[in-house]
This record gives sequence, C-alpha cells and structure tokens, in this order.
Amino acid sequence: MSDEFFEKDIYVEVALPVAQFMTFTYRIPSSLLRSVGDKKLIGRRVLVPFKKKGFSGIITDISQNTEDIRNIRDVIDFPDKKPVFPENYIKAIKNISDYYISPIGISLNNLIPEGLRWEYSREKKRWITKGEINYVITPDITRIDSSIKLTKRSRELLEILIEKGELSLDQIRELGFSKKTVDTLFEKGLIKKINIHLREGIRLRQEKGSFSTEKRRKGVYVYSFDDPDTRLKKYISIFSKLLKEGKTGIIIFPNVASVKKVYRDLNEKFGERVIPYFDGIPEKDKTDIWFSLMESSGFIIVGTYSSAFVPAKDLSLIIIEEEQSDSYKPLRTPRFDLRRAVYEIYRHSEGISVIYGSSVPSVESYYSLGKGLLKNLEKKEDITGINTEILIKKYEKGMYITELKKIPEDKTVLILSNRKGYASFLYCERCEEEVLCERCDYPLKIHKEDTKYTKCEVCGKKYQYLDRCLRCDLELKEIGTGTEKIYEDIKKIFPDQVSFIDEERKTRIKVGTTVMDKEFVYDRYDFVINVYPDIFLFMPDFKGDEVFFKSLFQPLFLSKERYIVLTNAKENPALLSLSEKKPSLFYESELENRKISGLPPFRRFILLTFEKKGLSIESVKSIFEKWLKDEKIRNIDYEGVFYAYRSKIRDRNRVQIILKDFKEKEKLKRLYEKSSEKGIKLIIDVDPKQIV
Ligand SMILES: [Zn+2]
Ligand SMILES: [Zn+2]
Repeated sequence: MSDEFFEKDIYVEVALPVAQFMTFTYRIPSSLLRSVGDKKLIGRRVLVPFKKKGFSGIITDISQNTEDIRNIRDVIDFPDKKPVFPENYIKAIKNISDYYISPIGISLNNLIPEGLRWEYSREKKRWITKGEINYVITPDITRIDSSIKLTKRSRELLEILIEKGELSLDQIRELGFSKKTVDTLFEKGLIKKINIHLREGIRLRQEKGSFSTEKRRKGVYVYSFDDPDTRLKKYISIFSKLLKEGKTGIIIFPNVASVKKVYRDLNEKFGERVIPYFDGIPEKDKTDIWFSLMESSGFIIVGTYSSAFVPAKDLSLIIIEEEQSDSYKPLRTPRFDLRRAVYEIYRHSEGISVIYGSSVPSVESYYSLGKGLLKNLEKKEDITGINTEILIKKYEKGMYITELKKIPEDKTVLILSNRKGYASFLYCERCEEEVLCERCDYPLKIHKEDTKYTKCEVCGKKYQYLDRCLRCDLELKEIGTGTEKIYEDIKKIFPDQVSFIDEERKTRIKVGTTVMDKEFVYDRYDFVINVYPDIFLFMPDFKGDEVFFKSLFQPLFLSKERYIVLTNAKENPALLSLSEKKPSLFYESELENRKISGLPPFRRFILLTFEKKGLSIESVKSIFEKWLKDEKIRNIDYEGVFYAYRSKIRDRNRVQIILKDFKEKEKLKRLYEKSSEKGIKLIIDVDPKQIV
C-alpha cells in the first residue's frame, strides 16, 4: 500500500457513551491505519482508553485542531469490518442531538444494537458488552386474583404491565422499579419475555430488482382518516413496488404487540423479505441484521422506535404508524421525538420518503399540514366513507348493561373502559362534576381497605371518603368504570359470552381498556361501547383535550355498525367533531385555544428538571440566576422555580423550570455542567410530551 493516506498518523473525534456534550480526540497510528486499510473512517466503531476505563466509541469527524497533541491517546482497535453508520446518518444524529441538547456520545451509542456497546473489563481482561441487554416483558396472566401473594412494589409493577400489555426493561427502570422486582415476577411465573425467533438465524441475500428509474414522489406525508386495514393494504401495495425495484422500506409501530401482528401479515405476503427489528429479538440477530442491511437491499423492516435508525442500503421509505402515540417521545436519553428524528434522516438522505400514519393525526401534524410543512398522502381532509352510526349518551351508573341488552345477540361487542380493575369515582349529579383533588383538579379514585378513602392518582394525596357533595350537600354517587367491574357486571347477565380482550378465548363480548396505540392489534366489532372516556379531560396537562379526542375517535375505526359513547362531558369540541365525523372541527378549535394560551405548537417549551436528595427551590434558584448572569441572558421567558408534580422519586427531590421559546441552547450545556458540579442531575427535555 503506497497510498500517502496510510503513511501518517490520523487524529479523529470519537463520540463516547459519557454524559458530556463534547467528542474526544484520539490518534490512529499509521500502523493501525494500514492494517485497517480503509479511508472511510467516519462512522467506524473504535476501542479507546478513557480515563482508567476502556469504551467502544464512534468516529464522528477527522480532527482539524491537532496542535496540542501531547495528551492525546491512541485508538486501540477497530472491532468491525465496516462503519456502523454512514456519514449522512452521523450528521443527522448530530443535528438531532443538538436540537434535543443530548450528549452526542450517548445518542449515537444508544441507537446502535446493544451488542455493539462495549467496555473493557479489567477483571475479565477482555472487552464485554456494556450494561444489560434490554428486552420486552409481557404479563403471563390477565388479572391478579387473591391467590397471588406479592409485595406492594411487585403488585404495582404487575398492575402496570397488565394495563400497558408490555414494557421494556429500560422503561420499567424509568418508572423507578428495580431489576429485583422484575426477577420476583419472573420467578413466580407471572411475566415472560417477548421473543420472535427467526428461522435459522438471518441470512440476507440481495434481491434482484428491476431498478426502475421511475421517479417516486419524494417528501414527508401525513396519511390519516382511513381505518387500519385500509392503511395496511395501502402500505402493502407501496411495499410491493418498492421490492420490485430492489429498495428497502421501514415500518414502525409504538409497541411490540403491533409489530408481531403486522409482521405476520407482511410475512404471509412477502416471506423472507420481511425482517423484524425491536428489543425482543436475540441480540446476535440484531447485530447481524444491522450490518447485513447496510450491504444488501430489497427488504421490509418491521419494528419499534429503534428500527428507525437502521441505516439500510437503498432505503426509500420510512413509515411511522400511529404517529400520534406518546411512545415516540421516550423518557430516557436520548429524548428524541421519533417524528423529528426521522425528518432529520430524511433531510440528510437522498431518495427517502416519510409517511406519518394514523387514524387521526396529532395536533402538531395537523398544524404542519396547514402550514404546508407536510403533505397529504391522500386528498382527505376529514373522515369519509365510514358509515358507522355514532350515539353519544349521558353516562349513568351501569348504563353499559342497559345498552348491551339492546344489542341483538348475534352481534359482536367491544366494551372499552380507560381504567383497569375496579376504579370508581365520586360524582355529584346536581353539580355534574366529580370530586376532585384540590391540588390537581383530577378525579379522586375510591380505595377500599379497612375503610373507604379516596386518593389522587396524579399526586398521591389521600382524602377522607365523602357521602355528600361539599358544595350542594346532595348525596354523592360512586361511578364505576374499571374493566374488572364491567366484566363482573356483564358476567351476571351473559355468563358464557364475555372475556377480556387479551384472553385467547373467543367470546361474543370483549372487555378491554383503551385501544390507543393498539389499532392494528384488535379485531373489528359490530358494536363498540366506550365507557366514560372523560377521565382524560382531567389530565393536568395541556394535552388532555387531545388525548380525550384520540380516545373518542380511535374506537370509531374498530366499529362496523354502531359506536356508542357514554360520557358526562358537555359542549366539548371533541364530542361535537365525533358526532359530525369531522375531526377538523376539533383541530381548529384546539389550535385556536393553544394559540390564545401560548402553548405548543405556537410556542416551544424546554422542561428543566433538577434532581438531588434534599434539593431545595432556593438552591436551584441560585444556580439558575447565576447562570443567567454568567451567560448574559436577559430576554428570557420562563415559569418556575417550583417543585415538580411528582416532587420526590426514589429519595430525590425534583425541582422544575419551564423555558419558553428559548433559542440559545448551547448555553444550557453550561447549566447542565454547573448543576453536575454540585451533584445535581439536570434533565433537559426539549418539546416535552407533558409539562407536569
Ligand atoms: Zn392530586
Ligand atoms: Zn353538588
């Protein structure tokens, strides 16, 4: 090799999995460079020493500033034959990290398969996988009966798992549960790992495509107001064309249950061309898939969040389904909103189109459509062609039974409630209002232990049970909406005809919680009854009305003949738009409200959460004010300093500040470092999904 390139040492910038915003300079000695024999260095994974440890990192740049080379250490090795990311992905992820003020090293390293995140073990004297491999857990039971003995913590986790259907180990940790709690549930056989085993590993072969030169309409599209079946048919027809051209496409869902369902459908149609990619597949397969897809094309990848970052060769389409889902803005670093991240990949690539799919789009997507930032895939402004009859009725105790009795006995029925268990609330019929938490304005849930009491699910405050309304003295009623209660009630009348939605048993009547994010999982029913979705209206957050709207509309797409809503909400724009089958009515009024109140998408928020044991408002105030002075920040609009709604998590006090339309993000990195020096963990959440 006589090439001059390989004769000199080269200095590179390496992104390491440490909580710092910078990259680190390392030298690649010419001898190592020659043994690698490749000029393409950006995107390569390297093994490097860091302080007294060793990590794998990713090269983001060739260093320009190499004047001070005294303390620069050498790259130890290149563990792969190829880069893990092409250069355009490195650029895109850098941009996204800047937007979300996320340390670049943590971002990049969290987006590659876990099996490629290494650290050096001095004990074992070799490189090992860093941290624990993530996996997805699902409950192995549908409800907790009295024979199951559990600690308070384990029971709490199991209840959440049953409610959500699935959680990854990472998400469980986020919620503050320990690995030990998870292990206890495993030992008792109450939960299991979700797994897809691929036939005899992965061997991807390049598809021989016709490579037509036909120009596809490139762009970012919104695809809404069609039911999930119609949308999937549309995607299948797009994928057929794509595969004929030898191109690759990615379709992403908010949960593994949807991935498994759609994987089966696509697999039937396209066979081995369909590749699953999510936390539940074996780590070895994940790494194999990652590198193989960079080499060969002609595949459809079906996955969750992480599949969006697979840098597949000849990638020409990324679909994010149920784009309105909260799961696309995770609570852990990097806190990238997937829709924005994919948009950034689109901007840095050639020939990729993006589709945000949903029955009803998020308010943000609708707003972007209006602004011309996104395009409509179909020329559909509102729902058309859905003939389901809609009935909106006032909710009264036990009304689902009255309605159920009216339905002919040869019809299938889905009854939805937004609460598991026996959740019930106190309601005054004269004031037409629930008894609310005085702090959160959230309906108090009734609990029964030795005596009855009520408790706020948001802040945890307990209250005495009330018999009479404090305002008008009328006797209060308990309104029960939990699925468990509904199930028991129905069983008394139709003993053999009812089961829970996640039970395999085939019955005419099914009881389930909200269908949100699970549209592709559920079957369609002749009748759907939505019991008391009002609970979402009380969410102490600006997105409450939007969530209520979604919870009203999504079941419509699952009902064939009639859709009945039992509610106490009045003159609500979401209800009006449902009865008219015109979602646009809601969007227009919601956008108007948000504009007046100065809320997103009209204003941008950054939520700062400071965490430390014994942390006071005063100390955060002094750090914040010193930062404002040091950075010469004068025109700043913010709310705070105040204790967070959940003011204490695992012994740590939490103090928050909300910045509004703050543009000088670079300066926030210094606030992060200043807090760090004082032992305070600062969580910076750009465009938070909620602000409580
Ligand atoms: Zn409360
Ligand atoms: Zn009253």
